Amino acid sequence: MPSEKFARILAVEDSAAELRLLTDILEEDGFQVIGCTSATEAIRQLEPGRFGVGVVDLLLPDLDGIALLQEILKIDPDVRVIIYTGASSFDSVKEALNAGAFGYIEKLSDPGELLRHVHRAARARVGRYAADLEAAVAKRTEELARSNQELQAFASVVAHDLRSPLLTISGYCEILVEEFGLQLPQGAIEYLDHITLAAGRMGRLIDDLLDYSRVGRGRDPMRAVDLHAVVDQVRANLDAAIRDADAKIEVERLPAVRGDQTQLIQLFQNLVGNAVKFRDTRPVVVRIRCEAEGAMHRFAIADNGIGIAPKDFERIFLVFQRLHGKEYPGTGIGLALCQKIVERHGGRIWLESQPGQGSTFYFTLPAADPLPAPPPINDRA
Ligand code: ADP
Repeated sequence: MPSEKFARILAVEDSAAELRLLTDILEEDGFQVIGCTSATEAIRQLEPGRFGVGVVDLLLPDLDGIALLQEILKIDPDVRVIIYTGASSFDSVKEALNAGAFGYIEKLSDPGELLRHVHRAARARVGRYAADLEAAVAKRTEELARSNQELQAFASVVAHDLRSPLLTISGYCEILVEEFGLQLPQGAIEYLDHITLAAGRMGRLIDDLLDYSRVGRGRDPMRAVDLHAVVDQVRANLDAAIRDADAKIEVERLPAVRGDQTQLIQLFQNLVGNAVKFRDTRPVVVRIRCEAEGAMHRFAIADNGIGIAPKDFERIFLVFQRLHGKEYPGTGIGLALCQKIVERHGGRIWLESQPGQGSTFYFTLPAADPLPAPPPINDRA
């Protein structure tokens, strides 16, 4: 719950000296106070949500204290109003309580008494604020979950609907070449090749976008995952690219982490795949290492490739953001996917890089649950 001092106080008292005293006591205790010597001035200061507590004198020159109380509650029904009275007239206090005052205090009470009352009123207001906030957060979370689901459903439908005309396009290109290839001039065959390549690229884009939209759901349960098994799988999946680049992948001892195995394979595969893909003329060496960082493990995947300028560090994590053209194939979704996967696991991802020197991508993942403690010696067989 937010601190009671969060509640700003409106103090209304016609005697400037009394008001100063009141304000000093409250401010010294850490409250923020707006002091007014008349009801008119107080009403001018009021707006919904601005004040948590009002401390109001009953005898004001321009308006009866009860009328001011009503005016305050009309503008903001959540303000907790304490009547601050010197007249100790029981009838008017009773009237004020009936009109919605939170409590009352006599003017000459000691400062401790005054503060106790104000704290109680502030707690009541802030408690209400916290409850409102909680309800608003719960509502927003529900809305977000719903719109996320809708988005995922939308992505699936769109991807499905886009795939079928795409299959028709590439299918008919193939038929054209097979059935009429001999009659077509060389130029036409080249155009058909372009169409087929573009259709293939669009297919990959659709698949990647679908992967991206599905990260929130995850297919596998979160459990202890052996990262050596993950890296072995990644090596197998990237076998052709690794061999083509004659790349050396060096792996230090890796721990088990708590995660979704399929997504961890996607994460390592995108980063190792990029490390191999964005190479320059030097022999490719990719190093994977890990260090403990509290309850998390911090991983580093370092390459000696073309590197990235610091001005692009943030941009490359956005969907479809690529720094290169066709010379390096790709859809520009890989790093966005990596970021989403790492964040779903409660970690973060960042990089260090120098153009022409290479890049190191860092990310954190939660350590796997500790192994169960061994049984006591006596129980051991
Ligand atoms: P893709 O690899 O499909 O282009 P990514 O989202 O994986 O998309 O990467 C976005 C861009 O970030 C890449 O196009 C590239 O310009 C840059 N990039 C990513 N990884 C590296 C790397 N290891 N070395 C140099 N540039 C990289």
